[in-house]
Amino acid sequence: MQIEINKPILELNDRLAAANRALLAQNKVFMLDIMASPGAGKTATILATIECLRERYRIAVIEGDVASDVDAQKIKASGITAVQINTGGACHLEAAMIERALEMLPLAELDLIIVENVGNLVCPTEFDLGQTAQAVILSVPEGDDKPQKYPGIFAIADVVLLNKLDALPLFDFSVEQFTSSLEALNPTAALFQVSTRTKAGIADWATWLSNIIDA
Ligand code: MG
Ligand code: ZN
Repeated sequence: MQIEINKPILELNDRLAAANRALLAQNKVFMLDIMASPGAGKTATILATIECLRERYRIAVIEGDVASDVDAQKIKASGITAVQINTGGACHLEAAMIERALEMLPLAELDLIIVENVGNLVCPTEFDLGQTAQAVILSVPEGDDKPQKYPGIFAIADVVLLNKLDALPLFDFSVEQFTSSLEALNPTAALFQVSTRTKAGIADWATWLSNIIDA
């Protein structure tokens, strides 16, 4: 017999996530949750995405980190409102943290909130935040076997960004292998090959995002 110790915690989280989702819908705000390992390029992707979409949408960012406000400062330096959540050690964001962050944002004056989840490929999958869509970023140096090793996060993604494409010549990363294991896990996920350094693929990704925001 298995004792499901996490069940009440997840049920409470799901209730709060549903309330967040309803609040966002009421204010016509699209919330994108971005999940990835530490160092995959979440903050750089957010900044590049903002550059493409800031003329078109009113954007804010919620930054989740175990400690520090380094990433929130980078976002604020670009002139975008950012709320920092320090999880105090927790390796994922939860709906209750997002609820508090949403209270600090002028929802009626926003179109898009981008959430940078804590760097982790495991437990963010368990905690619904009330997001409208979920993106996973994998960077080339992490290896093409990650969908096989962390199937859960790739299976729930609406969209996957393969980042640091400019580093391909330096690593034994098979785009074909990565693409086929992703397709086996999640045939409907959109996939963009990008480089936040060279900006390759960023405009295509931003166009895709803007199409689902407007849908
Ligand atoms: Mg970051
Ligand atoms: Zn966690």
